[in-house]
Amino acid sequence: METNLKHRPVRLAIVGGGAAGLFAAAVAAERKIPCVILERKARLGSKVLMTANGRCNFTKDISPEAFIRDLAAGGERGDFAAAAIRELPPQKIIQGFRSLGVAVKRMPDGRMFPADGKAATIVHAFGDLLRDSEVPIVTNAPVTGLQPQKNGFIVATKNFTLWAENVLVATGGVSYPKLGSVGDGQDFARALGHRVVPYRAGLIGVETADPRVTRRAGQRFENGRARVFDGDGRLLFDYAGEVDCETFGLSGAAVYNAERWMEHWRRSGGAERRSAISTAALRREVEFANERVTVENPVPRPLKEAIVTIGGVSTEDVDPATMESRRVPGLYFAGEVLDIDGPTGGYNLTLAFATARRAVVSIASARRREV
Ligand SMILES: Cc1cc2nc3c(=O)[nH]c(=O)nc-3n(C[C@H](O)[C@H](O)[C@H](O)COP(=O)(O)OP(=O)(O)OC[C@H]3O[C@@H](n4cnc5c(N)ncnc54)[C@H](O)[C@@H]3O)c2cc1C
Repeated sequence: METNLKHRPVRLAIVGGGAAGLFAAAVAAERKIPCVILERKARLGSKVLMTANGRCNFTKDISPEAFIRDLAAGGERGDFAAAAIRELPPQKIIQGFRSLGVAVKRMPDGRMFPADGKAATIVHAFGDLLRDSEVPIVTNAPVTGLQPQKNGFIVATKNFTLWAENVLVATGGVSYPKLGSVGDGQDFARALGHRVVPYRAGLIGVETADPRVTRRAGQRFENGRARVFDGDGRLLFDYAGEVDCETFGLSGAAVYNAERWMEHWRRSGGAERRSAISTAALRREVEFANERVTVENPVPRPLKEAIVTIGGVSTEDVDPATMESRRVPGLYFAGEVLDIDGPTGGYNLTLAFATARRAVVSIASARRREV
């Protein structure tokens, strides 16, 4: 029996066991960085299990440069995550899952899925790796606060506190709160002096009572299209993809991507740049089944139903080379908690994986603090 037990910190506490947290723990295990995952929910990866209707479109098999280009929307560029994506391009993610024994399937447009069509296969692959690497995982453990010390952080949960040299906040966005992502990471960041960009629904359906839509509720159209025009009829955005008719209106990849584009357009002041045009003057046109529907004065569905949250911890307060806070040394962010988002098609999971990897690689190479 050991008699001189010493109180020492864990090298890395990962707050949140979703896409970014799981990937971070996997990289930490590979690099022999002692870490612990603290997860609010009873199981890991609740949101990952829901992705792509339970099939998990985990990345898009395109070049990193094409991927980075696709992140841009409505005048905003995807620069913040560019270095992370170049280091973990989609090809590496695909190889990584293959090396964990996951058979994968590629769609003609490059979207990648586990071959068995089950998101659980992805979550189990992480679970097996973390079990084999003996990574400690604490579920049912919502983190309630982070307190920086001169030699690390006190990480508080309802039932215990933990001493960690570094903390990675990977608590996700604010949509689908039942899956555990409720905005805690953004609140911790705000309390520690970071700016938080207001939340908006990123990929979301729109309401319309157009009978051509409502009478087709429940039908999906693979060969749909969504376009956005300005007040002078100039085409600003055009995307060919799935359109779904719902009881409330329209959804599906084409509609989601058009709504995301418009939200970024608003945010980046697109309306002001085209002086006379207000966003209200932007016109959405959605095509499916030989119908062309103009959605007038659309009401977007609520944020809690969004596939991704726009807004979150400001990327101006985080170093894109390391994912470390510019305000609190040793504090890192990854995934949707940050003000980053992508279109549909595997982009958001890829962003979570790539930013998580970048954070852990920087922690691995950072000079260790005296404890
Ligand atoms: C219905 C749906 C379908 C989607 N489909 C796709 C898709 O096919 N492809 C794609 O690329 N993206 C998809 N997305 C988006 C993608 O799932 C997210 O962008 C991604 O999961 C974000 O990863 P994350 O780790 O940042 O957050 P999350 O995966 O949400 O993980 C955050 C974790 O942190 C935990 N947590 C939160 N607060 C605390 C706390 N205080 N203490 C401890 N733990 C905490 C949460 O419980 C959660 O497990 C989809 C999203 C939804 C909602």
